[in-house]
Amino acid sequence: MNARAPLDTADWSRRSLAAVWHPCTQMARAAQQPPLSIARGEGPWLYDHAGRRYFDAISSWWVNLFGHADEGLAEAIATQARTLPHVMLAGCTHEPAVRLAERLGARTGGALGHVSFGSDGASAVEIALKQSFHSWRNLGQEAKRHFACLRHGYHGETIGALAVTDVAVFRDAYDPLLMRSHTVESPDSRLGNEAQAIEALRELLAQRHGEIAALIVEPLVQGAAGMVMHSPAYLRAVRALCREFGVHLIADEIAVGCGRTGRFFAWEHTEPAGAADWPDFLLLSKGITGGTLPLSLVLTTDAVFQAFWSDDTARGFLHSHSYTGNALACAAANAVLDRFDAGQLDANAAQAQWLADAFAPLAQDGRVAHLRQRGTILAFDVPAAMPGFAERFHLAGRARELLIRPIGRSVYLMPPYVIDPTIALWLAASVKDTLDDVV
Ligand SMILES: *Cc1c(COP(=O)(O)O)cnc(C)c1O
Repeated sequence: MNARAPLDTADWSRRSLAAVWHPCTQMARAAQQPPLSIARGEGPWLYDHAGRRYFDAISSWWVNLFGHADEGLAEAIATQARTLPHVMLAGCTHEPAVRLAERLGARTGGALGHVSFGSDGASAVEIALKQSFHSWRNLGQEAKRHFACLRHGYHGETIGALAVTDVAVFRDAYDPLLMRSHTVESPDSRLGNEAQAIEALRELLAQRHGEIAALIVEPLVQGAAGMVMHSPAYLRAVRALCREFGVHLIADEIAVGCGRTGRFFAWEHTEPAGAADWPDFLLLSKGITGGTLPLSLVLTTDAVFQAFWSDDTARGFLHSHSYTGNALACAAANAVLDRFDAGQLDANAAQAQWLADAFAPLAQDGRVAHLRQRGTILAFDVPAAMPGFAERFHLAGRARELLIRPIGRSVYLMPPYVIDPTIALWLAASVKDTLDDVV
């Protein structure tokens, strides 16, 4: 026991502002809106030191799958911690990494059977960009050293990942540091522009395929853009165009993988009939450890793997991180996959329907536009731009036990997979009440 009296939420918030540089935060403004100091989590609820609770409607930046402090994941991590927390993955290997790679590859029907490990989403993006470029280079196509990405896409915030990210608030300050990418129109169900977006991509690839190594996309939902959605048909067209023009396709499923869209991989909504229908790279992170430990994975094809196969060390993929293939994180990920093997997607389908039913009346609300949903991602826009809307909604939500952070004027929910009909109705009512407070 600590002899001193426990600090309360306000104390920790104050000390945090002095010592912790918070992400995605203007610290000068944070003094007016101090961070919530969270003492513990249980299921979808986060509790502060005073015992006030908040429903984590956005799964702590989209990472949490089964609620906080999940017993099964805690047990898997604890068991691994007592056995082998970590060993370097060069020159050594271990069961949790091998099993995880095999299981993920099997979920693609073997199409993407070679798995690289990173520590977070951005590092997975870096790995995919480097592998794509380097594989073309090994094949004698050195001119293919540029990348294409979609308007408003988000792929992380390291220098390479930012270069294929088109979100001004994250990108603009660093633009002088970034490699040049080709940004092409993105499909948006609110605009009905899929055919145009496909044509724009065809035009770009027809003109520039000789210099483009890969196109990177967020399948079905552009998350950081404000939950902008498109159809599986768009993805099928993209797959075909990339193949026609000899450009790799990178599916960034960091946010939409792990059952979020209703299938384990969002790409499965395209109903791939064989290996050729899968992307060349598929990225996972966020939910893969259920929100417990940082881990990311890059799945790729035999063809990419073979391009590095050589007696020459320099033709190999030498990229590494200290914690590559961390055994604790792999054990957590295997425990996540156990849930999916045991039928998690059926539960997700029911939960998505309860959310749809509970929020359906909101479509009639004059303050709500473009109510949209894919799996357990639900979003709507407020029609008119209102200054400070996102922050005001966030703070009003907190007062109603709701942790929710709109993106611009798009309000979205991406809750842990623990929804029941009662919770769904409570969420819809709380969102409507919060809207009443703000609009
Ligand atoms: C979050 C995210 C990333 C970056 O992952 P980090 O772990 O934050 O680096 C990349 N792509 C997508 C689609 C994401 O949602």
